[in-house]
Amino acid sequence: MSQSSVEHLLSRRVLEMDGSGIRRAFELGASLKDPINLSIGQPDFPVPDAMKDGAIAAIRDDRNGYSLSEGVAPLNRAIRNHLAHDLGWDIDDPEIGVMVTSGTSGALLLSSLALLDPGDEAIVPDPWFVIYPQLGPLTGGRIVPCDTYPDFRMTAERVEPLITDRTKFVLANSPGNPTGVVLTERECRDLADLCRDRGVQLVSDEIYDEFVFEDARGETGACPSPGRGDPGVLVIRGFGKTYGCTGWRLGCAAGPAALIAQMRKLQQFTFVCAPTPLQWGAAAAYDADLSDLIAGYQRRRDRVVGMLSPHTRVSTPGGAFYAFFEVPPALGISGTTFVERAVAHRVLLVAGGVFSSRDTHVRLSFAVPEPVLDEGLEVLAGMLSGSLV
Ligand code: PMP
Repeated sequence: MSQSSVEHLLSRRVLEMDGSGIRRAFELGASLKDPINLSIGQPDFPVPDAMKDGAIAAIRDDRNGYSLSEGVAPLNRAIRNHLAHDLGWDIDDPEIGVMVTSGTSGALLLSSLALLDPGDEAIVPDPWFVIYPQLGPLTGGRIVPCDTYPDFRMTAERVEPLITDRTKFVLANSPGNPTGVVLTERECRDLADLCRDRGVQLVSDEIYDEFVFEDARGETGACPSPGRGDPGVLVIRGFGKTYGCTGWRLGCAAGPAALIAQMRKLQQFTFVCAPTPLQWGAAAAYDADLSDLIAGYQRRRDRVVGMLSPHTRVSTPGGAFYAFFEVPPALGISGTTFVERAVAHRVLLVAGGVFSSRDTHVRLSFAVPEPVLDEGLEVLAGMLSGSLV
């Protein structure tokens, strides 16, 4: 079939989705020979050996078939134990469900499909992770952005006026992509209380929960979470970023059993299950000690803030590996133009407009070796101060 004969058959759903922002970042990267690539959204360390060994052993032992839709038993159990320890959930409570998903993205899609009917609303942060607005066309729901500029905190105060009688869920993301901002325990609790009071589901995308720096940790020493002590929150987490295996496509969802049951049903008819041998590998994930890695990321975070904050506004990232800095208004250019000019100095970034209704900021990833980061920061400091055009 030629392309023209299929075009009139395409769904409104796909035509409404715009993939140009991300594509543009890739194209810019491909045009450079030796880029200083600060656009990458994945960690720069190898998968822990125990996970590799677990996955390889599963393949060799012929554990390559489908798994249950909630995941292989050892991984599902490991997630439950981890949540019991981290969030204080009574994980044997039948009201709590846990499932393994095909990446964090899989959990986001399944939860949206389970909650949204056409015309229903979901509140997401602006700036957002790129999938969030697409959950609208994917489900028929309406995505309502919550403006979190300039400090990027999606507080109960900011969310409350956006709740209507069509709101089904509020999607929080802390530590956030693209900002790295981490909510406090208090802010998390207020958001959970608001959602409970107003009868809407709180969905918490915590894909970066292990990447939280000392100054942003909560009372327990872990990442603040609205799910702490509250299994009414749908907590979504991932293995890809935490353990350097984004290509394994593994995440999980945990929370109200009645919601998880519907997500499992949807999984049966879509993804079927997450990749089975890799689930066996991930069962060893929680034994890995990431503290040195996280300390290394915190050092890089400090360099980013130290180099950029004299020249522009940048919220200190409490976690993840991104910083979202403002293009100084005095430069009179958009985030997109700034990113294009940075390419002339071999630096690759992502324009804020890819993640937001505004194009005033730029996302930098510090998941790169320190010498690369330092070289990039020199260029950016020059551009932001106006000494480098
Ligand atoms: N949520 C956020 C906030 C992310 O940054 C990402 C990945 N960049 C995802 C979800 C999707 O992750 P996964 O690869 O596990 O699907």
